[in-house]
Amino acid sequence: METRLIRIEEGDRKSEGALREAARILRAGGLVAFPTETVYGLGANALDEEAAKKIYAAKGRPSDNPLIAHISSFEELEPLVSEIPEEGRRLAEAFWPGPLTMIFPKSSLVPGTTTGGLGTVAVRMPDHAIASRLIALAGVPVAAPSANLSGRPSPTAARHVWQDMEGRIEMILDGGPVGIGVESTIVDVSGECPVLLRPGAVTLEMLRSVAGAVEIDPALAGRPDPEIRPKAPGMKYRHYAPKAELILVEGRTEAVVEEINRLAREQTARGRRVGVICTEETKGCYPVGALRSVGKRSQEETVAHNLFAVLREFDDLQVDCIYSESFSQEHLGYAIMNRLTKAAGYRVIHV
Ligand code: AMP
Ligand code: MG
Repeated sequence: METRLIRIEEGDRKSEGALREAARILRAGGLVAFPTETVYGLGANALDEEAAKKIYAAKGRPSDNPLIAHISSFEELEPLVSEIPEEGRRLAEAFWPGPLTMIFPKSSLVPGTTTGGLGTVAVRMPDHAIASRLIALAGVPVAAPSANLSGRPSPTAARHVWQDMEGRIEMILDGGPVGIGVESTIVDVSGECPVLLRPGAVTLEMLRSVAGAVEIDPALAGRPDPEIRPKAPGMKYRHYAPKAELILVEGRTEAVVEEINRLAREQTARGRRVGVICTEETKGCYPVGALRSVGKRSQEETVAHNLFAVLREFDDLQVDCIYSESFSQEHLGYAIMNRLTKAAGYRVIHV
């Protein structure tokens, strides 16, 4: 299949034509990758079983790992769900459009192919002009997991989508780099109390300020237990792991810098190629190894924004091991550490 890569400029007439063409592809059961404020999504008609199957095939994604249905207005939620619990309504009013996905009991309209056979459906209203225009023009909810091959870092720029999806999908809409850079927060509102399944840019603190009590899924706390069936089926799969061994070093900044330098020297002496993930604040402190700054520690949005691109870069650099600084577990740091800890396969050194 030939994949068309089309640059979209807001308000431009040619771009409007391309968006209409993309919407037509979606309605006809095809696949279109598009930007959102979190990461690039790989879109298909969420109500069309055959189209949803194509997403799993293009990504190499296990078919029991459900998809998020994206909508462009509040009215589009009701037909997809059998009930809108009070907390769900309040959270939607507070954070939609935005980087929040909620799990609702599903209606009969949504096929099991989209939900991985579950009785619930994940729904999000993105806050991105291109995404919402595309969904509105398509006139159907758009299932859109991250537009990467399963097991690769989520794409935060159109070139990442091209690397993974060229030849596998009909069209890629290039809307420039995304804003946030980590996937949406996921909250299950289908039970008694809302449960956080994946941290993101709508932070736990923000959720609690609107919904009151919000529990944390036990699977978020640490290494997944193969015996326990996690609430978010995606949690049971091995997540993105860099080609090189990644180890996080946690502690006071000076101690972390010292430990990473010690490890980097030790590994270099053994003939191994070392990578280091640092921050703008510490980039002058590492004399050894291939160094990449992931952003400003004092502005964690910049770290979230660059994280996946830096991880992709290290796959190309062909290092043998990577040492990374750690971040706080609060606010956006929780989402950053969730992705980094999974990428490290839970290898964390405390100093
Ligand atoms: P991705 O689209 O790649 O960002 O991944 C979507 C995530 O949402 C996966 O971890 C899924 O397991 C999770 N998810 C989607 N639908 C549901 C659902 N109905 N119940 C629980 N988790 C879900
Ligand atoms: Mg994904």
